[in-house]
Amino acid sequence: MTAFHIDCQCPQCGAPANLQETDRLVSCPFCRVRSFLLTRDYFRYVLPAKKPAAEDLFYFPYWRFRGTLLFSLASGIDHKFLDVDQSAAEAPGLPMTLGLRAQAMKLRFLSPDLAGRFVAPQRSFSETFTVFQKRAVRTLPKPILHSAHLGESMGLVYAPVYVRDRLYDAVLDQPIADRVNLLDGHGVAYEKPDWQVRFVPALCPDCGWDLEGERSALALHCRNCPASWYPSGETLTRVESHCLPDPQANAYFLPFWLITCDTSGIELSTYGDLVKAANLPKVVDAAQGSRKFRFWAPAFKLRAQAFLRMAESLTLTQVQEMLTPVLPSERHHPVTLPVEDACESLKVVLAGFMKPRRRVVEMLTRISIHPTHFRLAYLPFRDDRHDFIQVQTQLAVNKNLLRLSRHL
Ligand SMILES: [Zn+2]
Ligand SMILES: [Zn+2]
Repeated sequence: MTAFHIDCQCPQCGAPANLQETDRLVSCPFCRVRSFLLTRDYFRYVLPAKKPAAEDLFYFPYWRFRGTLLFSLASGIDHKFLDVDQSAAEAPGLPMTLGLRAQAMKLRFLSPDLAGRFVAPQRSFSETFTVFQKRAVRTLPKPILHSAHLGESMGLVYAPVYVRDRLYDAVLDQPIADRVNLLDGHGVAYEKPDWQVRFVPALCPDCGWDLEGERSALALHCRNCPASWYPSGETLTRVESHCLPDPQANAYFLPFWLITCDTSGIELSTYGDLVKAANLPKVVDAAQGSRKFRFWAPAFKLRAQAFLRMAESLTLTQVQEMLTPVLPSERHHPVTLPVEDACESLKVVLAGFMKPRRRVVEMLTRISIHPTHFRLAYLPFRDDRHDFIQVQTQLAVNKNLLRLSRHL
């Protein structure tokens, strides 16, 4: 399954808008109002029914996950890209997955005024996700020391069915099961879903200035304040945003999450601790050694190997001493990876640089990492033919890979 397309309406003028699943900022071509999409947790969608009348419809829930699973193994790191869905409730005769229906149709956001009966999910997302994980690890060498996920889109998709002589899929308007009494009784419960997508104007919550950002951007900037804003449930909240200076003044800025953590099972609060954990061939003086350690991770979607390589390199380099609290220039890449995903990857990043390897096997399962603070850090990259090259550290990222990773 590829990323969904979603039909929605401009909250200001009602004009139709067509979104991709990864879009967060909607610009209306008619009234020119820009709105930002928010949800208290995850997005919920419905597949549109062809027929019959809406009040006869039953909506059946499916959990959907699209993203990368990361695994720390004794021999190193492995990953698998998943694009899957699975029914969230049991009902005999109903398909276990959405199949082609979600590819062929444009989805809509769930809304409280939609008529029909909604089947309540019987399984939580995390229960279903555990099943996806178990399936993905079957072919991997054991033991699996740690698993995590990255760059996920998760959500709930409702598919409509109706009952006549048989049970019909209302998207394709085709019969799917013979028995007609499937949906009453049999442990199926109904609920009125209490959820609605929230649109907020893309204006600075402090000063009302237009917020700057691309359609897939999770962080928006106000050039007037100046400040950066990031979704937190149904509101935009301020996020600290810093930059490394650009000596050439024409760099492309890429965003990273800079994350402070409490760790247990390993001492990792200073640069000196990092030198020890990674067994770096370095002699550090007391001043260097006592500098506060922070994790670095890309704040944009990137294929797993490149993501982990960048996170590891920057975490080992610890360039935060040179950051200044300014916004990046307009030539910058959007933040597309939520900070929760970056936090989720940190133990895999740590397992990647811990030395010697046997320590990873011995220690990893006992280590836990608790993020306590995060901010955005934009780093300048210069244009090379095929790559963007980080000015201060010479770390390279392939331009083509960056472009292809946008739709992960
Ligand atoms: Zn409009
Ligand atoms: Zn402002």
